[in-house]
Amino acid sequence: MIQIYGAGVAGTYLYYLLAKKGIKANIFDTRKTPDCRCAWGFTYSEAKDLYSKIDLNLDDYILVKPKNLFVNDLVLKNKNVVIVDKLSLLSDLWSGLEFRESNSEIIVDATGAKRAFLPKIQNDRIMRTLQFLERHEKDENIFVYFERHGYAWAFPLGGEWHIGAGGAFENRLQEQIKKLREHFDFPEKESKCSCVGEVRMLPPSKCRPFVSGKVVGVGEAIGCVSGVGEGNVPALKSAEILSESLENLEIYEKKILGEFKWLEREQKFVDSALKGRPAYHLLPMIIAFESKRLFRHSIFDFLRVFI
Ligand SMILES: Cc1cc2nc3c(=O)[nH]c(=O)nc-3n(C[C@H](O)[C@H](O)[C@H](O)COP(=O)(O)OP(=O)(O)OC[C@H]3O[C@@H](n4cnc5c(N)ncnc54)[C@H](O)[C@@H]3O)c2cc1C
Repeated sequence: MIQIYGAGVAGTYLYYLLAKKGIKANIFDTRKTPDCRCAWGFTYSEAKDLYSKIDLNLDDYILVKPKNLFVNDLVLKNKNVVIVDKLSLLSDLWSGLEFRESNSEIIVDATGAKRAFLPKIQNDRIMRTLQFLERHEKDENIFVYFERHGYAWAFPLGGEWHIGAGGAFENRLQEQIKKLREHFDFPEKESKCSCVGEVRMLPPSKCRPFVSGKVVGVGEAIGCVSGVGEGNVPALKSAEILSESLENLEIYEKKILGEFKWLEREQKFVDSALKGRPAYHLLPMIIAFESKRLFRHSIFDFLRVFI
C-alpha cells in the first residue's frame, strides 16, 4: 500500500496514474478544498500529453491562450503557454478521491513547498508570492514586470486577471506589483480575493534526499520547479517518473536528475544572478530550450530585459 500526502498537481496525478496500473494508494491533503484559482500557466503540449495518460482532457480546462508575452518593454510571441482553470481541474480530480491515511510501506511526500515528510533541506530557498484577483478590460496577453530579484505578473483568466509578484524579498512584493500596474496600465481595483504563496527555488540536486526511509518525494518537494517558478509540468513529469520507479526506488533519484537537467541550468542562472554574478554562459542552452517550449525569444531579447 502507498500513502500519498498532498493532493496538489503531483499527488493527484500520481494517484490516478497508479490507479491506472492497478496499484492501490491512499491520498490525504490538509486542505478541505483544492488550491484556489491562482495563475496556472502550462506548457500546453507537454501537459496535454501527460494528463491524457489519466484520461483527462486538458482542453476542457483552458481559460485562455494568450497571444503574446509582454516583458518590460519587449513583446514575445506565445508559442505554447495556456492558462488553465486550476480550481476546476483539481476539483474534478478531487471528486474521484476520498482522503484517507493508512499505515503503508511507502509514503509519498507530495506536499510541495512544505516538504512535510522528507528531511528538511539545508539552506532551503523558498520565495514568497503575493497575489490578487481583479477584473480588467485588456487584451488577453501575459504581462510581466521583471527585476533582478523577482517579477510581477498579470495573467488573463478570461475577464478576470490574476495579478501577483514573487521574489527574493517579501517586503518588495507590493512595490513590484505597483511597478507592473504603472508600466502596463493595470489600475488598482477591488480584489475579489488575495492570498500569499511560496515557491521553492532550488533545483532537484539541492533537494536531496528524494528517498528517506520509507518516504519518497515528488514535485516541488524535491525541487521540480524552473528558474521562473514553473512547477506544474515538472510536478506531473516527476510523478510519472515515480510511478515507473516504485519497484526500484534506487533508480528514482538518477532518473529525476537525468530528466531535469534544464531545471538545474535555470536555477543555477537565477542563483548566480541573485548573487550579482550572472552565469551568462548558461544562456544559450536555456534560451534554446525555453524558446521551443514557451515563448519565442533570443539571447538578445533576454539580455535587453535582464541588463
Ligand atoms: C502564486 C504562484 C503562482 C504559480 N504559477 C505557476 C504557473 O503559472 N505555472 C507553473 O507551472 N507553476 C506555477 N507555480 C508553481 C506551481 O504551482 C507548483 O510548483 C506546483 O503546484 C507544485 O506541485 P506539487 O504537487 O509539488 O505541490 P502543490 O501543487 O503545491 O501541492 C501540495 C499539496 O500538499 C498539501 N499539503 C501541504 N502540507 C501537507 C501535509 N502536511 N499533509 C498533507 N497535505 C499537505 C497542500 O495543501 C497542497 O494541496 C506557481 C506557484 C505559486 C505560489
